[in-house]
Amino acid sequence: MKKVMMFLLAITLISACSHTPNTLQEKKELKAHLGKGHVSKETSVEKKIVGIPEYPKAAQRKIVKGGPDDSISNFRPDPIQNENKATYKLDLTMDSEEKFTVTAEVKVENISKDEWNEIVFYFIPNAFTEENKPESLKNAAEVSISSIELDGEKADYLLDHDTLYLPLEESFKPGEERSVTVRYTLTVPEFGFRLSNNFNNIYLAEWYPMLATYHSGWRKEDYIVSGESYFTDYSDFKVKYSLPEEYMVLSTADNDPANPSASGELESQNVKEFYMALTKNMEVVQQTAGDVEVRVAGVASTESLKQILDKSVNVLNYFSAKLSPYPQKQIDIITDEGGMEYPGIVTIGPFNEGHKDEGRGSQYFALIHEIAHQWFYGTVNNDPYYDVFIDEGLTNFATYLFLIGHDKKTPEETFAFAEQHAARTTALAHLPLHEYLNGGFMGANYEIPPLKLWELTGGEKEAFDYLSKYVELYSYQEVDTAEWIRFTKSYFKLNDDQFFQEWISYE
Ligand SMILES: [Zn+2]
Repeated sequence: MKKVMMFLLAITLISACSHTPNTLQEKKELKAHLGKGHVSKETSVEKKIVGIPEYPKAAQRKIVKGGPDDSISNFRPDPIQNENKATYKLDLTMDSEEKFTVTAEVKVENISKDEWNEIVFYFIPNAFTEENKPESLKNAAEVSISSIELDGEKADYLLDHDTLYLPLEESFKPGEERSVTVRYTLTVPEFGFRLSNNFNNIYLAEWYPMLATYHSGWRKEDYIVSGESYFTDYSDFKVKYSLPEEYMVLSTADNDPANPSASGELESQNVKEFYMALTKNMEVVQQTAGDVEVRVAGVASTESLKQILDKSVNVLNYFSAKLSPYPQKQIDIITDEGGMEYPGIVTIGPFNEGHKDEGRGSQYFALIHEIAHQWFYGTVNNDPYYDVFIDEGLTNFATYLFLIGHDKKTPEETFAFAEQHAARTTALAHLPLHEYLNGGFMGANYEIPPLKLWELTGGEKEAFDYLSKYVELYSYQEVDTAEWIRFTKSYFKLNDDQFFQEWISYE
């Protein structure tokens, strides 16, 4: 579960603000600076003065008030169309000091109507350097970009916190394709946040430059340690790795090697991001669920891992039957990290001895929740900066439904925690991530949405009918709040916005 530490969020938010040049002098400096070549670690003082210039930003769609568009049988989905496309070729080499050398080749396609003067990436490892890291983290990442090439030519760039910005001398026209190659070294922080080295088990989350999406403007927000401040579209990945010794590799790919390996090639199609874990001292147990291979990795006893495996298979089978078949051929569950979802792989914390605790804060709940994200995040996309209640709310709703439908808990006991949490939450859902500084993040986005949806559906079958229709209509598409409301209004034949306005911000 993602714990919200508002104090830390405040600190991080302030430190995450981009510097933008306001004066003519600053803009001149930028031009002169860009002429000089790329910004690297050594020129970071200069980089701070100059900053990244303003670039076109996307606007949020407005919620349309009023009755439903149409009955659900005639309903036409109107997802957000991302206007760029990225294809990734990542080459990762680790040396004996656990330092990575990465070559990331990203093919970028402009499928918008706009001519671009820049290409914008997230480069999240840079949010964890000594200079930028959240105060909650003791150890820093070491990141150094050695070069960036655009279509094979050395290119200028600016790096500010987690924003990697490439100014283009020649505009990037609609329908064109460019190739960006970023070469860098990376040392993963010990006990970091998602990108982490814990006792020589290395977790690589958001470790490569990720293309920001585009919708009549770039969609790139500053990194925030709470929640997910980054948003990516579906892409294809080819990943090559070379390690100084054998590691067990668990990743987003379906073709993870069965045994420890020192080199290999992994591949994934149509996934939002590519996660990798390189584990040294974990045991892996596995079982098939239909045609899906389920693997559980951890440092716990074999008996405990097997119990988690049984539970994982139950959860995967249940959601596959109730929502839609799980879209990949393999799912990995790592039981030695914080709760987090990635395509084809999830992380949770270690289970308590004896597996007795099955409450809202338990790892059992986290396991169900993170697997449910394979549908609400993995299969249907939404921007977790602006519309976080969509994936977290629907994921938690599915989790509660599993407890009712599969584990035969009563709705009263299932929703008791959510009721208590909701009672002390005043924040609305659908605020940008940075507006949860004063609290309410969990209540508004994780707990109130399931309660409201339970109120609308009133039964496990009705609820899964609604959720499976949502998954069917929006698979591999992006839903924003405006569209989610439009769909839900049509599905339940709601004639006005009263139901939503009680708990969703219409601003
Ligand atoms: Zn979640």
